Amino acid sequence: MFAIVTGKQNHLTERAVRLLAVDLAEAFGHQAFSIAKPGEWDHLKDGRHALSIITEYQEDGPTITPEPDEQFIQVHMMTRYYGIDYERGNLAQILSVADWMFRRLPIGSKLWYGGDSDGARAIMLDRVAIAELWDHYCKVGHKPYHGALSGVFAHSGDTPTCSFCADTPMRSSGGVRNQRFFTCCGCGARAITSPAGVEMLADGDDFFTASARIRQTKN
Ligand SMILES: [Zn+2]
Repeated sequence: MFAIVTGKQNHLTERAVRLLAVDLAEAFGHQAFSIAKPGEWDHLKDGRHALSIITEYQEDGPTITPEPDEQFIQVHMMTRYYGIDYERGNLAQILSVADWMFRRLPIGSKLWYGGDSDGARAIMLDRVAIAELWDHYCKVGHKPYHGALSGVFAHSGDTPTCSFCADTPMRSSGGVRNQRFFTCCGCGARAITSPAGVEMLADGDDFFTASARIRQTKN
């Protein structure tokens, strides 16, 4: 996501962007942003804050460059992209950050969001785009990305369900060897399936410790 500030009189100084980045990280928690200390990453020897002034915006398509009176300010979020047909990232957080930016940037600034590596191009976050994304998120959340709407779970046979959550199928969370890990989206309950059956994990148990224990006791 990046902002376009139009009109040279509205452009922010490096220091103003730095202060804004600190405020942004304070509001949402610095963990929400891809921040690097100086020297932490080889390609960013001066480090990076939650916001930075950029001279171009690269995406899977033509690079977007500012007009002479435009300033681009990129927002470096940790969450993955969320879009219709790629329902992965935390859209609630993305749109909240966008809203925060609109309130803190000079009036008339625009926000662009995306794209993604599969060719999805950046779009301007106007009222219509925000409403469309938000509407989609509220209706389907992350289910299309995780396959819950495509029947993947319905055919998998050994997908455990959560009795606390209306017997909803649990979501696949990976696995090792002949074991598969599952998590309930409704309450966070976790289970491991293996040829020996389904085992629910206790609170505080992690998948890999439980996996090793199951392998030892069943052999
Ligand atoms: Zn549950």
